[in-house]
Amino acid sequence: METNTTQEKIIGIPRAMSFYNNYPFYYGFFTDLGIKIVLSDMTTKQTVSDGSALVVTETCLPIKVYIGHVINLINKGVKNIFVPSIQSIAPKIYNCSKIRGLPDLVRNVVKSDFNLIEATLDKSEKNCGLYSFLAEMAAPFGITDEKIIKRASKAGWRCYNNFHIMAKSGMSYKKALNYALQGKVFIETHTKEYPISIALVSHGYNIYDEKTCMKIFDKLEAMDVKVYTSLQLSSEQLNDGILSLGNEQYWANEYDMTGSAGHYLKDNKIDGVITLTAFGCGPDSLMIERITRKAKRFNKPLLNLTIDEHTGEAGFITRLEAFVDMLFRKKRANIINKFELGETKAEYIPNTNFIDTKK
Ligand code: SF4
Repeated sequence: METNTTQEKIIGIPRAMSFYNNYPFYYGFFTDLGIKIVLSDMTTKQTVSDGSALVVTETCLPIKVYIGHVINLINKGVKNIFVPSIQSIAPKIYNCSKIRGLPDLVRNVVKSDFNLIEATLDKSEKNCGLYSFLAEMAAPFGITDEKIIKRASKAGWRCYNNFHIMAKSGMSYKKALNYALQGKVFIETHTKEYPISIALVSHGYNIYDEKTCMKIFDKLEAMDVKVYTSLQLSSEQLNDGILSLGNEQYWANEYDMTGSAGHYLKDNKIDGVITLTAFGCGPDSLMIERITRKAKRFNKPLLNLTIDEHTGEAGFITRLEAFVDMLFRKKRANIINKFELGETKAEYIPNTNFIDTKK
């Protein structure tokens, strides 16, 4: 791929899509190379409408948000913008076409003067693996020395691994990211007891962007619910999860979806599962189908939430509250059946009418 060398050692990274999985790596890598990172601002209504105005309506929300973040960087005067094309993360394990074609999409819809730093990661193709991806990230800044690139890669992995150690210990995404960027590692020791535990199954870009997910973590926390995500699981647990849903991994983002769902559906500490997907997402609609069927077999309550730019917060909260309320009732019923009624008496059936008609 042809790239122009830039004098300016500044790179803009859109706070969207792969940012939510890979930013600790990007941060460690670019910082070690002496390249300053400028991030786009947090997602706002304006970000969504800027992105939506440039792509066809059917495009999924995360892509609209991504385009909005590219516009935000351009408005900040950033000249070099990093837009990776992550084709596949392992042989024959692919990303969806929108993620794969992200640089082409950006080039075609954003008609402004900026340099697109478009590195390609494709582990299904020869010579298109991690090193060439990193070399393509560094080349536009005139950095081609293999030793320097490998050293920066180590710095990237260090930051990335620190982030995952902290997130796995139960630390919140935001806190783990902040510490990792400061080069610190702590283990979460906070042991608050929660009456209800939920697994939130989704992609990082759907749940860690506070505007996109409408602060779902805060809302569930306020309802006294402990939330688990794929970040608390090891790659072995995620692989097992994928297999337990009866399939080999095909999509790169199955770890987030079928991997974590497959694991948490079997986990007794989890009272229910919430999936959060973007309207119009092809891969997710296939994976949700498998997750829903398996949830029925495990008798695990499941709530599917679909989001787009028109999703109203009031309806979103109502669905969350109804689901959490049902989980509380189910749990109470289980406790009563176990300790109070005994085996000889009739089973206690919870009232699942959310409108109490007796009043
Ligand atoms: S996986 Fe789904 S949500 Fe993500 S970019 Fe592709 S279509 Fe959009």
